[in-house]
Amino acid sequence: MIRIQEILDKVTELRPDADVALIQKAYVFSAAAHAGQTRLSGEPYLSHPLSVAYELACMRMDDVSIAAGLLHDTVEDTSASIEAIDAQFGEEVADVVDGVTKISLMTFESKEAAQAENIRKMILAMAEDIRVLIVKLADRLHNMRTLDFQKPHKQKLISQETMDIYVPLANRLGLHRIKLELEDLSFRYLRPEVFNSITEWLEENRSSGQEYIQSVIQLLSSMMTDNKIKAEIKGRIKYRYSIYRKMEQQHLTLDQVHDIIAFRVIVKDVRDCYAVLGLVHAMWKPVHGRFKDYISMPKANMYQSLHTTVMGPEGERIEIQIRTDEMDQMAEFGVASHWLYKEGGGGRLKARDVQQFTWLRELLDWQKMETDSKEFMRSLKFDLFKDEVYVFTPGGDVKELPEEASPVDFAYMIHTQVGDKCSGAKVNGKLVPLSTPLKNGDTVEIITDQHRHPSRDWLRFVKTAKARTRINHFIRTEERTRSISLGKEMLEKLGRRMDINVQKALKEGAFDAVAEEFNLKEVDELLSQVGYARLTPRKVLQRLLPKEAPEPEEKEVEPQQEESRVEHTHANSVGIKGVDDVLVRFARCCTPVPGEAIVGFISRGRGVTVHTSDCPNVQNLEAERLISVYWDGTEDKPYPARIKMISKNIMGMMAKVSDLLMQEKVNLDAGMFHSMVDGMSEMEFTVEVRDIAHLYRTIDKLRALDGMVEVSRLSSSD
Ligand code: MN
Repeated sequence: MIRIQEILDKVTELRPDADVALIQKAYVFSAAAHAGQTRLSGEPYLSHPLSVAYELACMRMDDVSIAAGLLHDTVEDTSASIEAIDAQFGEEVADVVDGVTKISLMTFESKEAAQAENIRKMILAMAEDIRVLIVKLADRLHNMRTLDFQKPHKQKLISQETMDIYVPLANRLGLHRIKLELEDLSFRYLRPEVFNSITEWLEENRSSGQEYIQSVIQLLSSMMTDNKIKAEIKGRIKYRYSIYRKMEQQHLTLDQVHDIIAFRVIVKDVRDCYAVLGLVHAMWKPVHGRFKDYISMPKANMYQSLHTTVMGPEGERIEIQIRTDEMDQMAEFGVASHWLYKEGGGGRLKARDVQQFTWLRELLDWQKMETDSKEFMRSLKFDLFKDEVYVFTPGGDVKELPEEASPVDFAYMIHTQVGDKCSGAKVNGKLVPLSTPLKNGDTVEIITDQHRHPSRDWLRFVKTAKARTRINHFIRTEERTRSISLGKEMLEKLGRRMDINVQKALKEGAFDAVAEEFNLKEVDELLSQVGYARLTPRKVLQRLLPKEAPEPEEKEVEPQQEESRVEHTHANSVGIKGVDDVLVRFARCCTPVPGEAIVGFISRGRGVTVHTSDCPNVQNLEAERLISVYWDGTEDKPYPARIKMISKNIMGMMAKVSDLLMQEKVNLDAGMFHSMVDGMSEMEFTVEVRDIAHLYRTIDKLRALDGMVEVSRLSSSD
């Protein structure tokens, strides 16, 4: 078990100005919190945070990270709260501990490998501060080192998760050594037979291997001395997973894998790197195609080095890496070392900041060496679409959504039916409004109800194209259905006056020909056109009348009037002093209703048009053509008036309105719906009333309906 003193010694050795007091305090807090807990190994639980902190100290991580390493399991596993940590250690430490806790609380074990990329992205997005990831990786490393104490099936699950999630994360951050060790440890549990056979083989050849390493180091050393190059030379047997990969990729048996030993020459500058390369190649024959210059072409994770393979002293292959001390640091500690110790450090390196730098943007490419350009584009996409959230389904699948996406977006992502029938949502077990923006790591559960439908309200907050499209589609379909039934109703009403049995005619298919005449594919289309007031019911019913005996007034209908919503003539309702037998029409713009003040206009060849006195159009008419007219009051035909209503978008509103109109004996002549995004629905229609009093009484009653916001009479300027 690592002792706190070893950590403190390491910290002060590597960073003399370290805040030892903070680390000591974190140790005391952690020891108290974990008191009495033991690990599966039987060791005190504290041994785990101590090991994690020690690892972080060796990585030269800062005091905040080391303190967070000591505290990282206190919130998850003990009664300590994040507030207490904030109060005692400050916001930075608390944020890192909080981030690590959040990632730890998620279990990715059972997820398919296909989900791995999303999970990695989610973790990256969640880690506001890159130190969260580094502490989490140190935590995982120690857990992997002590995985022996877990049950076998757990060992496999955790190892797979490490391979799928944490190895790529470590690689992405350039934490090379951690990546290699995590890989090797996972490999051990995932492929124990292969791992063991490689281990045995290495054991058998160990002594000869060690001798061999020493002899090559000796040769290289004297070469350096002869050429007055200061260098540090290391030789090590490669990681077993690397050997395994080599066997797999090149279809080799163990005995055929020659370059299992890697040598490293560390020099003071780049010029020396190339000098050493020249010397090595002069002494040993290079293997064709094995030289790689990662100094002039660094890897995506900023790794720099010269790699070469040569035919060694006994004719065997030797792999040699040549790099500067600085490059070696980078290879070991990756992005962390670069930021914390070269750029002045101190500041937090946020995952989002990482995306600001070109050199780091390239680093964010996951697995550049083993993937194709498509993969590269996908990670690039991730960089560009940093505004994403990753949430879980109740089954643990990860879904990627745009930032601020709502449970409705999530529901539509699951399935169209789930979206359409979505009636409520639970986020992390709590019921929330459907407009709640989702956050990274949320678990979202959708409650459906067979009787629910998409609501226009949802358009205010949905963020995905799929949800928007589906909601609009539903609204359009619903409006069409309503317009069809409204159109039918309007035809029936007018039909009664014109002595046409519309229902019967519909049944007998009499409207098929009419639809065709209007170039419409089907009768429903015809009905909906009437409902939307694109066709007047009169115009439609006229077509059902025998052609040889059309109603006289219809002859007069000119093409421009076909669109008219309210063309009515009342030859006998209005009198003109001293004039008889004049064609009287009612203006479409103001639709005068008996009782209102009116004025007549003598049109050229079209009789007299009657406007309301206050109609704005009257002002533009030639004054000398205006004549005074009066209501005759003898005719009891209904008069059209246009009404506009704004109501809350309540499904039953249309029914309430039509009930009320029926009670008031007001005919509904034509209707038109407008969609309004803010949850209100707007409707314009034409009613037929007896007189102005009848109209205003009706408007008053409409205004009193529950859910009604505004009712007004329309004139053409509206
Ligand atoms: Mn832990």
